[in-house]
Amino acid sequence: MGMKEHDLLIVGAGSAGCMAALRAAERGLRVLLLEQRRRDDVGHPWIDDVEEGALLSLGLGTLPEDEVWPPPPLYRAVSPGGKAIERRGLPLLGLRMDRFVRRLLEMAVRAGAEFRGEARVEEPLLERGRVRGVVLRGQELPARLVLDASGLNAVLRRGLPESSPIEREVDESCLVTAWREHRVFPPEEVRPLLDSLEIPPGVGVARLGWRGGYSVLSLFYDARERVLDILVGFKVKGSSETAGDFVRRFFQDRGIGGERVYGGGGLIPVRRSLDALVDHGLMLAGDAACMVLPAHGSGVASALTAGDLAARVAASCLARGDVSREALWEYGASWQRGRGALMAYFDFIRLLSEGLDERGMDLLMGYAMTPLDLEIAMAARTLPLRAGDILRRLKGLRHPVFLGRFAALARHSIALKKAYERYPLSWDPSALENWRREVAAIVRRIPRTD
Ligand SMILES: Cc1cc2nc3c(=O)[nH]c(=O)nc-3n(C[C@H](O)[C@H](O)[C@H](O)COP(=O)(O)OP(=O)(O)OC[C@H]3O[C@@H](n4cnc5c(N)ncnc54)[C@H](O)[C@@H]3O)c2cc1C
Repeated sequence: MGMKEHDLLIVGAGSAGCMAALRAAERGLRVLLLEQRRRDDVGHPWIDDVEEGALLSLGLGTLPEDEVWPPPPLYRAVSPGGKAIERRGLPLLGLRMDRFVRRLLEMAVRAGAEFRGEARVEEPLLERGRVRGVVLRGQELPARLVLDASGLNAVLRRGLPESSPIEREVDESCLVTAWREHRVFPPEEVRPLLDSLEIPPGVGVARLGWRGGYSVLSLFYDARERVLDILVGFKVKGSSETAGDFVRRFFQDRGIGGERVYGGGGLIPVRRSLDALVDHGLMLAGDAACMVLPAHGSGVASALTAGDLAARVAASCLARGDVSREALWEYGASWQRGRGALMAYFDFIRLLSEGLDERGMDLLMGYAMTPLDLEIAMAARTLPLRAGDILRRLKGLRHPVFLGRFAALARHSIALKKAYERYPLSWDPSALENWRREVAAIVRRIPRTD
């Protein structure tokens, strides 16, 4: 300290923060990355399935073998009433996030970024409504530009003044509690285990809507490593337990032992990205900006993509000596018109599954969804849901209410995506307000059952 101010100060060494640090340091910026955990503890101890395409396009496609958890050869998604669709080899890679994020951090440090662990940031440092740095252990730490990549904590976003266009709080209704763990079993216990869980070897079975609405319980037994992989997620609202508590109870109730060798969990914000992603001297990326694909709760590819984009815009704004909301707006506009629009589109699947009862889920899986949809959704591309396709798909289904709802949802999801593709290109409060109104009007048209 006491030295020249940092160009870019990043809070949080997760996927978003480490990626931004790496790319900003590669561009020659003076980067400081602050993280509340110790250096050896960054990343989280469970597998995240990440779109292969996103890793490739970010130049992160070559992964060390010990970072990758081989995905199930066959995926089966099952509705509450037992309707199933299957797909072989989804375009996903399971990443051991502790190893992956630590390697990203090492790369960032090698590129010249400065890392400081055990540094829990308290709030943004504000000067006349502008972010001028952060406050750490009561000390002011100024920087030319700041990136909030602190995940769901969003420690800087929450401390913004009321005048900021960025929403400070997210609604509890979008929070999902999730848990993923690996257990190993003695060889003699494996057969009875698979029988009691009703999972065939080599098949990843995901029960969708098993707890009503937006919920998943996914099981896969990997015979090579003798590991049972379980993932559970459901809405926080209306649940009296966390996904972690549920998993413990799930094994206990079935008398399943084994040893947990890897795992953990937390909360995921499942909704479209926040409306505004920048303010004077501040950008948001990753979970701090709610950049999770709402269809399946995946946030890593988004966090990495946003970190990369943030570094690029930061470098050009810093070179021009302008880190105002107006200058940084380009970051938010690029995001919303690109991946943000895709996220808005996939919010449709979330809203669809939230509003469906068990019978509705059976109809969705039995008639409306195809194995190809599964693959396309996992690859974060738009589904072929044009009016003609929908009628063709639903042919033979005599259930006018569901038919109507599904067709309406497909239409509105495309309208929502298009609205995001028209996100204001420059900071203009009235244009943003009009855009928000347009989005709200489309969301209101989405039919709900409650
Ligand atoms: C059980 C579970 C399963 C999941 N499965 C998948 C999946 O299969 N695929 C997928 O893509 N996504 C998955 N996700 C979501 C994914 O993990 C997140 O979207 C992603 O990690 C977000 O990255 P991030 O960099 O934005 O935030 P984080 O990874 O949360 O990183 C934020 C960092 O900021 C630090 N921090 C927080 N507050 C402060 C502070 N005040 N000062 C300093 N540092 C701070 C934290 O310690 C942390 O290191 C899953 C999530 C859970 C919980």
